[in-house]
Amino acid sequence: MRRTKIVCTIGPASSDPVILERLMLAGMNVARLNFSHGDHAGHGALIRNLRATACRLKRPVAILQDLCGPKIRLGELPEQGVRLHADDAISLSASSARVPDSLPVDYDRLCDDVRVGDTLMLADGQMELRVERLACPQVFCRVIRGGTAYSRKGVNLPNTELQIAAFTAKDRADLAFGLQVEVDAVALSFVRRAEDLQEVRQQIAASGSTPLLIAKIEKPQALEHFDAILDQVDGVMIARGDLGVEVPLERVPVLQKDLIRRARQRGRLTITATQMLSSMVSSARPTRAEATDVANAIYDGTDALMLSDETASGAFPVESAQMLDRIARATEPHLPTSLDMDLPPLDREAPVACAIGRACGWLAADIGAAAVLAYTRSGFTARCVARFRPACPVVALTPDASVCRQLSLIWGVEPVEVPSLNSTDALFVSARRYSLSQGLARPDDCVIVTAGTPLWQPGSTNLIKVIELEKGLDVRRQGESPASGSEEVS
Ligand code: ATP
Ligand code: MG
Ligand code: MG
Repeated sequence: MRRTKIVCTIGPASSDPVILERLMLAGMNVARLNFSHGDHAGHGALIRNLRATACRLKRPVAILQDLCGPKIRLGELPEQGVRLHADDAISLSASSARVPDSLPVDYDRLCDDVRVGDTLMLADGQMELRVERLACPQVFCRVIRGGTAYSRKGVNLPNTELQIAAFTAKDRADLAFGLQVEVDAVALSFVRRAEDLQEVRQQIAASGSTPLLIAKIEKPQALEHFDAILDQVDGVMIARGDLGVEVPLERVPVLQKDLIRRARQRGRLTITATQMLSSMVSSARPTRAEATDVANAIYDGTDALMLSDETASGAFPVESAQMLDRIARATEPHLPTSLDMDLPPLDREAPVACAIGRACGWLAADIGAAAVLAYTRSGFTARCVARFRPACPVVALTPDASVCRQLSLIWGVEPVEVPSLNSTDALFVSARRYSLSQGLARPDDCVIVTAGTPLWQPGSTNLIKVIELEKGLDVRRQGESPASGSEEVS
């Protein structure tokens, strides 16, 4: 079993149902839909295809809705792109101004916000421009670093104070759509401070749906307010594409390690994103450096690895996912065991559940348990176990299909949908059966069960039970069954 999770961005290269199926077979745990691109009809059709394929393959694949936030982009350009040469003088202007021969930018206040001397970076920093003169609506720039600009590529203004709101009208409409189709997780781009998440949280709470909330960390201000942001979310994405433009590129490796460590200490999930296997956009094999970067993120303890252009628009979407899977499987056996055992166990929010989670990890190591089986309604119990990175698999058994999909994002968790049981005895019988029938454990193994009583009440995690599989079988053979079978309630 692979423990690090794989997120694939779905785009033109991968929306075909045949490719979706191949991505799932290659190990895609989460499909990311970038709402910067496409429309609701297209996303809706894609979500139906994803759900149908996952259902047919019996795989809990989560859908992650990525809200673009205040991302500024180039407008529509000729298909072959626009060549920009170093030292060229060019002009940019808001798309709505429709100035001929000026690069269109999808931000109405571009000319109001920039100052002479400001830097503009295009396409994750591939091209760099310097503002030389303003003649609104035109912004005249010198090309510092050239390249080819294509439609809808990102525009970053790392040293400009932008007036743009954190959560835009488009985000509000996109989120309403996402909540309606019950996406499993929502990510907000360009979060600057904890308050930026308030409106998203309110809209989610009002909907009655409970997707995971993820903040994309890609602005310098988010680094300053990182701990406060962690309070508001289930997880963070280390969005290296924009981050590496908004802060000096050389800081990204250290930031990645620091942010992952701090998120994990707080029990928040982490996704490491962008350029993981960039060269596979056009090549069937990655560079050695990329393979090493992927392994390095796994060593940092990321929950999930994300592919962007590789699966959205590249020539080798399935091969890219397969490659992540291969690198993860080759790397994981070399992770230090019991990685997080010495992290502070007591979580302000849920000290008991957290301590139980850690105890499961210790116990599993001490007795060589084959697995920890966590019965959970909200997913929280399973996350509390997994955050300590136990050496054995963590199987999350939940009666809630959407929680099952959400847990696909969490390191080391194998989520399984089960019927709702109504007694702890029934739960132990089911754990025993599941372990043996799924080949999770051999008859002479033991497994650890954790849950909360009263059963299925979120926040009640309070129980650890060791089941020695063989012993139980002996007891049953000595005449306890068939009555014990009736413990299992549908
Ligand atoms: P972000 O900052 O959110 O990562 P991005 O522009 O880098 O935004 P990605 O989701 O990382 O976008 O995808 C990388 C590239 O893949 C995009 O720039 C775009 O060219 C292409 N792409 C992704 N999704 C789609 C889509 N649904 N339709 C068309 N192209 C897409
Ligand atoms: Mg990107
Ligand atoms: Mg980004």
